[in-house]
Amino acid sequence: MEINYKVTSGQEQVLIICMSINVSSTCPVSNITFYIGGKDLQLLSCRISGEKTRILFTSPDTIALPVISNETTELTYHIQLAKPGKHGHHGFIDNEFIVFEGGQVFLLPVDFYTLSDIEMPEAVENMTFTFDFASLLKKQAYTNPVEIIPFNELIKPGQAEIYSLCKNAFVFGDFVKIKSKNTPAADSFSVNVLNREKEKYINEPGFFELYSYYNDLFNSHPDSYNTVLLPLCEDSGLPIIGGSGEAVCASSFDIGKLRDWQLLSHRMFHAFFISTAYNPAFFIPPNLWINEGLASYYEIVSLESLNDTLKSYIGADGKSQLAGMFSQYLYIRFRYPGDYDFAPMQEAEVIYSGAKKEFLHYTMAPLLITAFEETAVKNGAKPDSLLHYCLNNRDFPTDGNLAKEAAFSILGKDAEFFYESYFSNPGIPVLWKLSVYLPGNNELIAMLNYIDYVLESWIHHK
Ligand SMILES: [Zn+2]
Repeated sequence: MEINYKVTSGQEQVLIICMSINVSSTCPVSNITFYIGGKDLQLLSCRISGEKTRILFTSPDTIALPVISNETTELTYHIQLAKPGKHGHHGFIDNEFIVFEGGQVFLLPVDFYTLSDIEMPEAVENMTFTFDFASLLKKQAYTNPVEIIPFNELIKPGQAEIYSLCKNAFVFGDFVKIKSKNTPAADSFSVNVLNREKEKYINEPGFFELYSYYNDLFNSHPDSYNTVLLPLCEDSGLPIIGGSGEAVCASSFDIGKLRDWQLLSHRMFHAFFISTAYNPAFFIPPNLWINEGLASYYEIVSLESLNDTLKSYIGADGKSQLAGMFSQYLYIRFRYPGDYDFAPMQEAEVIYSGAKKEFLHYTMAPLLITAFEETAVKNGAKPDSLLHYCLNNRDFPTDGNLAKEAAFSILGKDAEFFYESYFSNPGIPVLWKLSVYLPGNNELIAMLNYIDYVLESWIHHK
Protein backbone atom coordinates (compact mmCIF):
# COMPACT_ATOMS: atom_id res chain seq x y z
CA MET A 1 0.00 0.00 0.00
CA GLU A 2 1.13 3.54 -0.73
CA ILE A 3 -0.27 6.63 0.94
CA ASN A 4 0.22 10.22 -0.17
CA TYR A 5 -0.83 13.25 1.84
CA LYS A 6 -1.24 16.57 0.07
CA VAL A 7 -1.63 19.46 2.49
CA THR A 8 -2.85 22.97 1.62
CA SER A 9 -4.34 25.77 3.67
CA GLY A 10 -8.02 26.69 3.75
CA GLN A 11 -10.02 29.44 5.46
CA GLU A 12 -8.78 30.83 8.78
CA GLN A 13 -6.95 28.17 10.82
CA VAL A 14 -7.89 25.21 8.62
CA LEU A 15 -5.68 22.76 6.73
CA ILE A 16 -7.10 20.79 3.80
CA ILE A 17 -5.65 17.32 3.43
CA CYS A 18 -6.12 15.09 0.44
CA MET A 19 -5.01 11.56 1.34
CA SER A 20 -4.67 9.09 -1.54
CA ILE A 21 -4.28 5.36 -1.04
CA ASN A 22 -3.08 2.87 -3.63
CA VAL A 23 -3.01 -0.85 -2.89
CA SER A 24 -1.14 -3.58 -4.72
CA SER A 25 -2.94 -6.13 -6.90
CA THR A 26 -2.29 -8.76 -4.21
CA CYS A 27 -3.92 -6.73 -1.41
CA PRO A 28 -5.74 -9.21 0.87
CA VAL A 29 -8.39 -6.74 2.14
CA SER A 30 -11.17 -4.68 0.54
CA ASN A 31 -10.98 -1.80 2.98
CA ILE A 32 -8.41 -0.16 5.22
CA THR A 33 -9.29 1.09 8.69
CA PHE A 34 -7.91 4.45 9.78
CA TYR A 35 -7.76 5.87 13.30
CA ILE A 36 -9.42 9.29 13.54
CA GLY A 37 -9.38 9.77 17.34
CA GLY A 38 -7.60 12.66 19.04
CA LYS A 39 -7.87 14.98 16.03
CA ASP A 40 -9.94 18.08 15.40
CA LEU A 41 -11.11 16.92 12.00
CA GLN A 42 -13.97 17.15 9.57
CA LEU A 43 -14.34 14.43 6.91
CA LEU A 44 -15.44 15.85 3.57
CA SER A 45 -15.55 13.19 0.87
CA CYS A 46 -14.15 9.89 -0.29
CA ARG A 47 -13.70 8.91 -3.94
CA ILE A 48 -12.36 5.89 -5.80
CA SER A 49 -10.86 6.91 -9.12
CA GLY A 50 -13.07 9.99 -9.10
CA GLU A 51 -16.36 8.21 -8.15
CA LYS A 52 -17.88 9.18 -4.82
CA THR A 53 -17.97 6.34 -2.27
CA ARG A 54 -19.12 5.85 1.32
CA ILE A 55 -17.01 6.24 4.45
CA LEU A 56 -17.85 3.51 6.98
CA PHE A 57 -17.72 4.45 10.65
CA THR A 58 -16.52 1.24 12.29
CA SER A 59 -16.29 2.78 15.80
CA PRO A 60 -16.41 6.33 17.19
CA ASP A 61 -12.65 6.55 16.54
CA THR A 62 -12.18 4.54 13.35
CA ILE A 63 -13.31 4.70 9.72
CA ALA A 64 -12.95 2.09 6.99
CA LEU A 65 -12.14 3.26 3.46
CA PRO A 66 -12.83 0.91 0.52
CA VAL A 67 -9.81 0.04 -1.66
CA ILE A 68 -9.64 -1.63 -5.08
CA SER A 69 -6.36 -2.82 -6.55
CA ASN A 70 -4.83 -0.55 -9.18
CA GLU A 71 -7.30 2.25 -8.37
CA THR A 72 -6.85 5.29 -6.14
CA THR A 73 -8.95 5.92 -3.04
CA GLU A 74 -8.98 9.61 -2.13
CA LEU A 75 -10.15 10.98 1.20
CA THR A 76 -10.41 14.74 1.68
CA TYR A 77 -10.59 16.14 5.20
CA HIS A 78 -10.10 19.36 7.15
CA ILE A 79 -7.98 19.83 10.27
CA GLN A 80 -8.68 22.75 12.60
CA LEU A 81 -5.50 24.28 14.03
CA ALA A 82 -4.83 26.84 16.78
CA LYS A 83 -7.62 26.08 19.26
CA PRO A 84 -6.30 27.35 22.61
CA GLY A 85 -5.45 24.43 24.94
CA LYS A 86 -3.90 24.02 28.37
CA HIS A 87 -0.43 25.16 27.28
CA GLY A 88 -1.31 27.39 24.31
CA HIS A 89 -2.37 27.12 20.66
CA HIS A 90 -1.75 23.73 19.12
CA GLY A 91 -0.55 24.43 15.55
CA PHE A 92 -0.99 27.81 13.88
CA ILE A 93 -1.45 29.61 10.58
CA ASP A 94 -0.04 33.13 10.66
CA ASN A 95 0.78 35.70 7.95
CA GLU A 96 4.44 34.71 8.12
CA PHE A 97 4.39 31.04 9.02
CA ILE A 98 2.45 27.80 9.26
CA VAL A 99 3.24 25.23 11.93
CA PHE A 100 1.67 21.94 13.01
CA GLU A 101 2.53 18.60 14.55
CA GLY A 102 2.47 15.46 12.37
CA GLY A 103 0.16 13.59 14.75
CA GLN A 104 -2.34 16.42 14.60
CA VAL A 105 -2.79 16.20 10.84
CA PHE A 106 -2.00 12.82 9.27
CA LEU A 107 -4.58 10.02 9.48
CA LEU A 108 -2.89 6.63 9.85
CA PRO A 109 -4.00 3.01 9.42
CA VAL A 110 -5.23 1.73 12.77
CA ASP A 111 -2.82 -1.23 12.52
CA PHE A 112 0.04 1.13 13.35
CA TYR A 113 -1.53 1.72 16.77
CA THR A 114 -2.42 -1.87 17.57
CA LEU A 115 -0.05 -4.26 15.83
CA SER A 116 3.69 -4.75 15.82
CA ASP A 117 5.66 -4.10 12.63
CA ILE A 118 5.52 -7.72 11.47
CA GLU A 119 1.81 -8.33 12.07
CA MET A 120 0.46 -5.80 9.57
CA PRO A 121 -1.72 -7.58 6.97
CA GLU A 122 -1.18 -4.93 4.32
CA ALA A 123 2.14 -3.24 4.99
CA VAL A 124 2.63 0.39 4.02
CA GLU A 125 5.41 0.38 1.43
CA ASN A 126 5.66 4.07 1.07
CA MET A 127 4.26 7.32 2.49
CA THR A 128 4.81 10.65 0.77
CA PHE A 129 4.02 14.14 1.97
CA THR A 130 3.53 17.16 -0.27
CA PHE A 131 2.77 20.67 0.86
CA ASP A 132 1.45 23.61 -1.07
CA PHE A 133 1.22 26.81 0.93
CA ALA A 134 2.49 29.04 -1.88
CA SER A 135 -0.81 30.84 -2.35
CA LEU A 136 -0.88 31.77 1.33
CA LEU A 137 2.77 32.56 1.99
CA LYS A 138 3.56 34.29 -1.29
CA LYS A 139 0.91 36.93 -0.65
CA GLN A 140 3.29 38.30 1.96
CA ALA A 141 6.12 40.76 1.51
CA TYR A 142 8.88 38.14 1.33
CA THR A 143 9.45 35.85 -1.59
CA ASN A 144 11.25 32.81 -0.34
CA PRO A 145 9.35 30.79 2.27
CA VAL A 146 11.42 27.94 3.71
CA GLU A 147 10.24 24.46 4.61
CA ILE A 148 11.50 22.90 7.87
CA ILE A 149 10.16 19.36 7.93
CA PRO A 150 11.54 16.04 9.21
CA PHE A 151 11.14 14.25 5.83
CA ASN A 152 8.84 14.18 2.82
CA GLU A 153 8.88 10.41 2.35
CA LEU A 154 8.83 7.33 4.58
CA ILE A 155 9.79 4.01 2.99
CA LYS A 156 8.41 0.90 4.72
CA PRO A 157 7.62 2.84 7.91
CA GLY A 158 7.62 0.85 11.16
CA GLN A 159 6.65 1.90 14.66
CA ALA A 160 9.74 4.12 15.13
CA GLU A 161 9.05 6.07 11.93
CA ILE A 162 5.36 6.50 12.80
CA TYR A 163 6.30 7.76 16.28
CA SER A 164 8.61 10.25 14.59
CA LEU A 165 5.90 11.33 12.10
CA CYS A 166 3.45 12.00 14.93
CA LYS A 167 5.85 13.93 17.19
CA ASN A 168 7.80 16.12 14.77
CA ALA A 169 6.81 19.66 13.82
CA PHE A 170 6.24 20.71 10.21
CA VAL A 171 7.07 24.38 9.68
CA PHE A 172 6.82 26.70 6.66
CA GLY A 173 7.46 30.42 6.41
CA ASP A 174 9.86 33.34 6.47
CA PHE A 175 12.63 31.83 8.61
CA VAL A 176 16.39 32.30 8.73
CA LYS A 177 19.03 30.23 10.50
CA ILE A 178 21.25 31.71 13.16
CA LYS A 179 24.82 30.51 13.01
CA SER A 180 27.30 29.29 15.58
CA LYS A 181 31.08 29.41 15.60
CA ASN A 182 33.14 26.27 16.17
CA THR A 183 30.65 24.10 18.01
CA PRO A 184 31.12 20.34 17.91
CA ALA A 185 28.42 18.61 15.88
CA ALA A 186 27.00 22.03 14.90
CA ASP A 187 26.52 20.84 11.31
CA SER A 188 23.65 18.67 12.48
CA PHE A 189 21.95 21.47 14.40
CA SER A 190 20.09 24.56 13.26
CA VAL A 191 18.26 27.31 15.10
CA ASN A 192 15.57 28.93 12.98
CA VAL A 193 13.92 32.25 13.77
CA LEU A 194 11.47 34.51 11.95
CA ASN A 195 13.35 36.87 9.67
CA ARG A 196 11.88 39.92 11.41
CA GLU A 197 13.01 38.64 14.83
CA LYS A 198 16.57 37.55 14.03
CA GLU A 199 18.26 40.49 15.79
CA LYS A 200 16.98 39.16 19.13
CA TYR A 201 18.82 35.87 18.76
CA ILE A 202 21.75 36.38 16.48
CA ASN A 203 24.44 36.82 19.12
CA GLU A 204 23.26 34.19 21.57
CA PRO A 205 25.59 31.18 21.85
CA GLY A 206 23.37 29.45 24.45
CA PHE A 207 21.54 27.25 21.94
CA PHE A 208 24.83 25.78 20.70
CA GLU A 209 26.22 25.38 24.24
CA LEU A 210 23.18 23.29 25.11
CA TYR A 211 23.49 21.17 21.97
CA SER A 212 27.19 20.56 22.75
CA TYR A 213 26.28 19.56 26.30
CA TYR A 214 23.93 16.86 25.02
CA ASN A 215 26.38 15.81 22.32
CA ASP A 216 28.95 15.13 25.07
CA LEU A 217 26.42 13.47 27.38
CA PHE A 218 25.16 11.04 24.72
CA ASN A 219 28.43 10.80 22.81
CA SER A 220 26.19 10.95 19.74
CA HIS A 221 23.69 13.32 18.16
CA PRO A 222 20.62 13.25 15.86
CA ASP A 223 21.40 13.24 12.11
CA SER A 224 19.69 16.58 11.82
CA TYR A 225 17.98 18.60 14.55
CA ASN A 226 16.10 21.82 13.85
CA THR A 227 14.83 24.10 16.57
CA VAL A 228 12.29 26.68 15.44
CA LEU A 229 11.71 29.64 17.77
CA LEU A 230 8.25 31.12 17.30
CA PRO A 231 6.72 34.33 18.67
CA LEU A 232 3.64 34.29 20.92
CA CYS A 233 0.23 34.45 19.27
CA GLU A 234 -0.33 38.18 18.67
CA ASP A 235 -4.06 38.11 19.39
CA SER A 236 -4.24 35.94 22.50
CA GLY A 237 -0.70 36.40 23.86
CA LEU A 238 -0.58 32.62 24.38
CA PRO A 239 2.29 30.35 23.29
CA ILE A 240 2.13 28.43 20.00
CA ILE A 241 3.07 24.77 20.22
CA GLY A 242 4.21 23.20 16.98
CA GLY A 243 5.53 19.77 17.81
CA SER A 244 8.66 18.21 19.16
CA GLY A 245 10.38 15.26 17.53
CA GLU A 246 13.92 14.05 17.01
CA ALA A 247 14.23 16.15 13.84
CA VAL A 248 12.10 19.30 14.16
CA CYS A 249 10.95 21.08 17.28
CA ALA A 250 8.90 24.28 17.12
CA SER A 251 7.27 26.45 19.78
CA SER A 252 7.03 29.97 21.13
CA PHE A 253 10.22 31.06 22.82
CA ASP A 254 11.21 34.06 24.93
CA ILE A 255 14.99 34.35 25.23
CA GLY A 256 14.71 35.92 28.70
CA LYS A 257 12.52 33.22 30.26
CA LEU A 258 14.10 30.44 32.30
CA ARG A 259 11.08 28.16 31.73
CA ASP A 260 11.45 28.47 27.94
CA TRP A 261 15.13 27.45 28.10
CA GLN A 262 14.18 24.49 30.28
CA LEU A 263 11.50 23.40 27.81
CA LEU A 264 13.92 23.80 24.89
CA SER A 265 16.42 21.65 26.76
CA HIS A 266 13.76 19.07 27.73
CA ARG A 267 12.78 18.64 24.08
CA MET A 268 16.42 18.47 23.01
CA PHE A 269 16.97 15.68 25.55
CA HIS A 270 14.11 13.69 24.00
CA ALA A 271 15.54 14.19 20.50
CA PHE A 272 18.96 12.89 21.56
CA PHE A 273 17.42 10.02 23.53
CA ILE A 274 15.15 8.88 20.68
CA SER A 275 17.84 9.13 18.05
CA THR A 276 20.39 7.30 20.24
CA ALA A 277 18.24 4.68 21.94
CA TYR A 278 14.75 4.37 20.45
CA ASN A 279 13.11 1.41 22.16
CA PRO A 280 9.33 1.10 22.63
CA ALA A 281 10.04 -0.32 26.13
CA PHE A 282 11.16 3.16 27.26
CA PHE A 283 7.87 4.75 26.14
CA ILE A 284 5.37 2.60 28.05
CA PRO A 285 4.63 2.12 31.77
CA PRO A 286 6.18 1.10 34.06
CA ASN A 287 9.31 2.56 32.35
CA LEU A 288 8.00 5.77 30.75
CA TRP A 289 8.47 7.80 33.95
CA ILE A 290 12.24 7.14 33.81
CA ASN A 291 12.39 8.53 30.28
CA GLU A 292 10.33 11.62 31.25
CA GLY A 293 12.15 11.92 34.57
CA LEU A 294 15.52 11.98 32.83
CA ALA A 295 14.29 14.69 30.45
CA SER A 296 12.97 16.74 33.39
CA TYR A 297 16.20 16.18 35.38
CA TYR A 298 18.51 17.16 32.51
CA GLU A 299 16.39 20.18 31.53
CA ILE A 300 17.61 21.66 34.84
CA VAL A 301 21.13 20.20 35.05
CA SER A 302 22.01 20.98 31.39
CA LEU A 303 21.49 24.74 31.86
CA GLU A 304 24.70 24.78 33.92
CA SER A 305 26.49 24.51 30.54
CA LEU A 306 25.20 27.92 29.40
CA ASN A 307 27.49 30.97 29.37
CA ASP A 308 27.52 32.99 32.61
CA THR A 309 25.91 36.08 31.06
CA LEU A 310 22.88 34.11 29.91
CA LYS A 311 22.72 32.08 33.14
CA SER A 312 22.48 35.17 35.28
CA TYR A 313 20.09 36.87 32.81
CA ILE A 314 17.57 34.02 33.03
CA GLY A 315 18.38 33.03 36.62
CA ALA A 316 19.50 29.48 35.84
CA ASP A 317 20.74 27.81 39.01
CA GLY A 318 20.34 24.02 38.98
CA LYS A 319 20.64 23.38 42.72
CA SER A 320 18.16 26.13 43.52
CA GLN A 321 15.66 24.83 40.92
CA LEU A 322 15.95 21.29 42.31
CA ALA A 323 15.54 22.59 45.87
CA GLY A 324 12.40 24.47 44.79
CA MET A 325 11.10 21.35 43.05
CA PHE A 326 11.65 19.29 46.21
CA SER A 327 9.59 21.85 48.15
CA GLN A 328 6.86 21.59 45.51
CA TYR A 329 6.93 17.82 45.92
CA LEU A 330 6.61 17.95 49.71
CA TYR A 331 3.93 20.64 49.56
CA ILE A 332 1.73 18.58 47.21
CA ARG A 333 2.31 15.31 49.10
CA PHE A 334 1.19 16.87 52.39
CA ARG A 335 -1.48 19.21 51.01
CA TYR A 336 -3.38 16.38 49.27
CA PRO A 337 -2.80 13.29 51.43
CA GLY A 338 -3.89 10.13 49.64
CA ASP A 339 -3.84 11.67 46.15
CA TYR A 340 -0.15 11.82 45.28
CA ASP A 341 1.44 9.20 47.53
CA PHE A 342 1.72 6.54 44.84
CA ALA A 343 4.89 4.69 43.79
CA PRO A 344 6.40 5.28 40.35
CA MET A 345 6.00 1.56 39.62
CA GLN A 346 2.22 2.20 39.73
CA GLU A 347 2.62 4.30 36.57
CA ALA A 348 0.24 2.12 34.52
CA GLU A 349 -2.61 2.84 36.99
CA VAL A 350 -2.01 6.54 37.62
CA ILE A 351 -1.24 7.62 34.05
CA TYR A 352 -4.98 7.96 33.29
CA SER A 353 -5.14 10.93 35.65
CA GLY A 354 -3.62 13.99 33.96
CA ALA A 355 -2.68 15.52 37.33
CA LYS A 356 -1.02 12.36 38.71
CA LYS A 357 0.83 11.78 35.45
CA GLU A 358 2.07 15.38 35.49
CA PHE A 359 3.21 15.06 39.11
CA LEU A 360 4.95 11.73 38.45
CA HIS A 361 6.75 12.73 35.25
CA TYR A 362 7.77 16.30 35.98
CA THR A 363 8.16 16.49 39.77
CA MET A 364 8.50 13.08 41.41
CA ALA A 365 10.63 11.39 38.70
CA PRO A 366 13.36 14.06 38.32
CA LEU A 367 13.74 14.17 42.13
CA LEU A 368 14.04 10.38 42.33
CA ILE A 369 16.65 10.53 39.58
CA THR A 370 18.53 13.20 41.57
CA ALA A 371 18.51 10.86 44.60
CA PHE A 372 19.44 7.88 42.42
CA GLU A 373 22.44 9.74 40.95
CA GLU A 374 23.64 10.78 44.43
CA THR A 375 23.41 7.20 45.68
CA ALA A 376 25.11 5.83 42.56
CA VAL A 377 28.06 8.22 42.79
CA LYS A 378 28.39 7.48 46.52
CA ASN A 379 28.65 3.79 45.62
CA GLY A 380 31.40 4.40 43.07
CA ALA A 381 29.37 4.74 39.83
CA LYS A 382 30.24 7.38 37.23
CA PRO A 383 27.88 10.38 36.92
CA ASP A 384 24.82 10.05 34.63
CA SER A 385 24.64 6.34 35.40
CA LEU A 386 20.89 5.89 34.85
CA LEU A 387 20.94 7.55 31.44
CA HIS A 388 23.93 5.49 30.38
CA TYR A 389 22.24 2.33 31.62
CA CYS A 390 19.35 3.08 29.19
CA LEU A 391 21.74 3.85 26.33
CA ASN A 392 23.69 0.65 26.95
CA ASN A 393 20.49 -1.42 27.08
CA ARG A 394 18.69 -0.13 24.03
CA ASP A 395 17.24 -3.60 23.33
CA PHE A 396 15.70 -3.77 26.82
CA PRO A 397 12.65 -6.11 26.71
CA THR A 398 9.19 -4.46 26.49
CA ASP A 399 7.95 -6.39 29.52
CA GLY A 400 11.07 -5.60 31.59
CA ASN A 401 11.28 -3.51 34.77
CA LEU A 402 13.84 -0.85 33.88
CA ALA A 403 13.90 0.79 37.34
CA LYS A 404 14.63 -2.50 39.09
CA GLU A 405 17.27 -3.71 36.63
CA ALA A 406 19.04 -0.35 36.66
CA ALA A 407 18.95 -0.06 40.47
CA PHE A 408 20.39 -3.54 40.99
CA SER A 409 23.03 -3.02 38.34
CA ILE A 410 24.19 0.43 39.58
CA LEU A 411 23.40 1.03 43.25
CA GLY A 412 25.45 -1.78 44.83
CA LYS A 413 24.62 -2.43 48.50
CA ASP A 414 21.88 0.23 48.49
CA ALA A 415 20.03 -1.26 45.50
CA GLU A 416 17.35 -3.23 47.30
CA PHE A 417 16.65 -0.54 49.89
CA PHE A 418 16.47 2.16 47.22
CA TYR A 419 14.24 0.18 44.89
CA GLU A 420 11.86 -0.90 47.66
CA SER A 421 11.68 2.53 49.30
CA TYR A 422 11.32 4.86 46.33
CA PHE A 423 10.42 2.90 43.20
CA SER A 424 8.00 0.22 44.37
CA ASN A 425 6.80 2.27 47.38
CA PRO A 426 6.08 5.99 47.72
CA GLY A 427 8.98 6.80 50.09
CA ILE A 428 10.06 10.46 50.18
CA PRO A 429 13.61 10.72 48.76
CA VAL A 430 16.25 12.04 51.17
CA LEU A 431 17.04 15.36 49.52
CA TRP A 432 16.92 17.58 52.62
CA LYS A 433 20.49 18.77 51.93
CA LEU A 434 19.08 20.76 48.98
CA SER A 435 17.35 23.10 51.43
CA VAL A 436 20.44 25.35 51.67
CA TYR A 437 19.91 26.23 47.99
CA LEU A 438 16.23 27.17 48.38
CA PRO A 439 15.18 30.21 46.34
CA GLY A 440 13.98 33.33 48.19
CA ASN A 441 10.57 33.32 49.87
CA ASN A 442 8.68 35.15 47.13
CA GLU A 443 10.04 32.90 44.41
CA LEU A 444 9.36 29.80 46.49
CA ILE A 445 5.76 30.80 47.21
CA ALA A 446 5.26 31.47 43.49
CA MET A 447 6.62 27.96 42.73
CA LEU A 448 4.27 26.34 45.27
CA ASN A 449 1.25 28.24 43.93
CA TYR A 450 2.26 27.34 40.40
CA ILE A 451 2.33 23.57 40.94
CA ASP A 452 -0.91 23.75 42.90
CA TYR A 453 -2.54 25.59 40.00
CA VAL A 454 -1.11 23.24 37.35
CA LEU A 455 -2.29 20.08 39.12
CA GLU A 456 -5.64 21.54 40.13
CA SER A 457 -6.31 22.83 36.61
CA TRP A 458 -6.13 19.24 35.34
CA ILE A 459 -8.93 18.33 37.68
CA HIS A 460 -11.09 21.28 36.63
CA HIS A 461 -10.10 21.07 32.92
CA LYS A 462 -8.85 24.64 32.79
ZN1 LIG B 1 9.04 15.02 28.01
